[in-house]
Amino acid sequence: MNENITKRNELLAQKVIKGLESRNMTGYYAASKEEACRLALSLIAEGSSVTMGGAMSAHEIGLVEALKAGNYNFIDRDAYEDKRAAMLAAYDADFFLASANAITEDGVMVNIDGNSNRVSAIAQGPKKVLFIVGMNKVCDDVDGAMKRARNVAAPINAQRFGLSTPCAKTGSCMNCKSPDTICCQFLITRFSRHEGRIHVILVNDNLGF
Ligand code: SF4
Repeated sequence: MNENITKRNELLAQKVIKGLESRNMTGYYAASKEEACRLALSLIAEGSSVTMGGAMSAHEIGLVEALKAGNYNFIDRDAYEDKRAAMLAAYDADFFLASANAITEDGVMVNIDGNSNRVSAIAQGPKKVLFIVGMNKVCDDVDGAMKRARNVAAPINAQRFGLSTPCAKTGSCMNCKSPDTICCQFLITRFSRHEGRIHVILVNDNLGF
């Protein structure tokens, strides 16, 4: 990462972390993907049950591979034939790994979801939620975060999963009601009532979409 971008990201991350703290969530800054992986592993006690909801960023920092190789009970939803059973197991996990479609400079996270298992587990269920968020996801405010979620993250994810949505064809949101829409639920995480439940590692890199 370019030295000037790194300096800017460090400063911006401190602002986001302050915002998260004001919302009863805990933020951290990692200068690299490797540091982010080490930091995440230091937060997850060995023996913990861990699951995730489509968090590319957790893969990109090497966390998923490290958890699978380590002394953890990694709940791999792809290994479940019964998807409902996988979803219920996720709700009872010690840790849920997630990313955010966008995060504001004052610590509000925006996530959109089609199946909605990811946003529901972020909102309630798993004992702790650990977000891995690249600094490319930081937006000025909630309006900017919603625009990023719908015009950057959603079209890429729709293309990635081969969905027939207008954004997959045009590259930007057309506010569709397509049967394939991934915009069924919008979760705005602006405060956590549960002390110590939500942790966010901001990574000095471009992660996810
Ligand atoms: S509402 Fe439809 S077009 Fe807009 S981002 Fe969501 S899936 Fe794409």
